[in-house]
Amino acid sequence: MESRCNNLPLKKVSYSNVERRKSLSPSAIVIGAGFAGIAAAHALKNANFQVVLLESRDRIGGRIYTDYSFGFPVDLGASWLHGVCKENPLAPLIGRLGLPLYRTSGDNSVLFDHDLESYALFDTDGHQVPQELVQKVGDVFESILKETDKLRCEHGEDMSIAQAITIVLERCPDLRQEGLAYNVLQWYLCRMEGWFAADADTISLKHWDQEVLLPGGHGLMVRGYRPVINTLAKGLDIRLAHRVTKIARGKKGVEVTSGNGETFFADAAIITVPLGVLKANSIKFEPRLPEWKEEAISSLAVGTENKIVLHFDKIFWPNVEFLGVVASTSYGCSYFLNLHKATGHPVLVYMPAGRLARDIEKMSDEAAAKFAFLQLKGILPDASEPIQYLVSHWGTDENSLGSYTYDAVGKSHELCERLRIPVDNLFFAGEAASMKYTGTVHGAFSTGLMAAEECRMRVLERYGDLDMFQPAMGEEAEAVSVPLLISRM
Ligand SMILES: Cc1cc2nc3c(=O)[nH]c(=O)nc-3n(C[C@H](O)[C@H](O)[C@H](O)COP(=O)(O)OP(=O)(O)OC[C@H]3O[C@@H](n4cnc5c(N)ncnc54)[C@H](O)[C@@H]3O)c2cc1C
Repeated sequence: MESRCNNLPLKKVSYSNVERRKSLSPSAIVIGAGFAGIAAAHALKNANFQVVLLESRDRIGGRIYTDYSFGFPVDLGASWLHGVCKENPLAPLIGRLGLPLYRTSGDNSVLFDHDLESYALFDTDGHQVPQELVQKVGDVFESILKETDKLRCEHGEDMSIAQAITIVLERCPDLRQEGLAYNVLQWYLCRMEGWFAADADTISLKHWDQEVLLPGGHGLMVRGYRPVINTLAKGLDIRLAHRVTKIARGKKGVEVTSGNGETFFADAAIITVPLGVLKANSIKFEPRLPEWKEEAISSLAVGTENKIVLHFDKIFWPNVEFLGVVASTSYGCSYFLNLHKATGHPVLVYMPAGRLARDIEKMSDEAAAKFAFLQLKGILPDASEPIQYLVSHWGTDENSLGSYTYDAVGKSHELCERLRIPVDNLFFAGEAASMKYTGTVHGAFSTGLMAAEECRMRVLERYGDLDMFQPAMGEEAEAVSVPLLISRM
């Protein structure tokens, strides 16, 4: 294919050439049109940058994906606002759009995004588990986690949360559970694994609770996340079906090549592709990224969580927020979100995570939907077949290669910050680059804004347009610049 050049104004600016400088506007290429990329592009456009956004898929949103094929919105990616409060960076936008939220929990629930208020758990024989037992084992699970906290003070070395639980149960026989109670405990573990999209034997004891949980509890986006991202994307120059394959940086700017042979030039680039995509090395960096950045990319872990959405013609399940199956291993447990409660539509969403999610991704969509339905049929024998289904593939989709980042054993949480730190005129954003709100939409959003602001400052500094920010370094030093924050590693 013939190569075409897209000249975002490529600056050849000297600081003394004021007239020339005034005739050009600064430019940036944003890579990835998920929440981070769209937030960054939106902010830079407002700052009078020329911005082009390159997106590999034929849609925007990334891991925000609201499907309308049932005739109403269903989120196959993110669906909760974690932290329904004014401190949430997304609150002003969601509030302004008047989008309703359905609160599934308050603060500090043992189940993260659910309260133990409206649910029905069953054993694998279809008998409902008494609520008192669920509550009691929930308290035990919290006590076990508190005990694991002591372990992390005792042990210098990190270990998995699964190993820590084993040690605690050896030390504290009164916390051990048997029979049905043991299975309920496995279900709590399964929900924890869902929160991290990873198995308990890979989650770091030292770091699992280091993300910041905003107050206000967790709210489901009743109409889906799409209206939010659509609003931010309005007026942006977004090039869909542009998979970036190469990013070359130099003193004069950045050259980005997409798979269809097009080349784009700008002063700087903001990279927001998912961690899984960076890990796969499908984008070539010229020159190579520094070692500390490559190490952050390879060391951070990304987990898998999927959604199998079952649409029924009638409601046959109890009027609760979620249904669950308890089993002798967390792998064998299951969780169904009842969307009917929040949206009025007859839909259940089965959400496997970790190894189970990866195993199910190997199945055809039909087999995956059948698998989910069989879990349901096991607890509700009168269940009628779904009339439609949707299946996500976040783990194997080449545009995501994972669902969200989590803290793996032996890896520092500060790797997220290393991932975020710019390299010359390349800026990084996305959920994985958020120290405080890793793995969330508002985390992706805030890193997008952060990257845009850093990019703006940096580019304008080079133009001499920021009087207060005179360039402190010559061009030579700039090329090998190591950001100040690196001292925090
Ligand atoms: C099943 C699931 C449930 C979730 N639930 C929640 C939830 O309830 N609440 C919450 O806060 N968070 C949730 N999350 C996490 C949340 O969706 C993400 O943290 C957030 O959407 C990530 O945004 P991002 O901009 O960092 O990445 P993305 O949204 O993945 O955007 C990156 C973009 O880069 C594009 N891209 C990839 N490769 C290339 C390339 N080579 N060239 C150009 N473009 C490329 C991708 O197509 C994508 O559009 C969930 C995620 C999943 C998968």
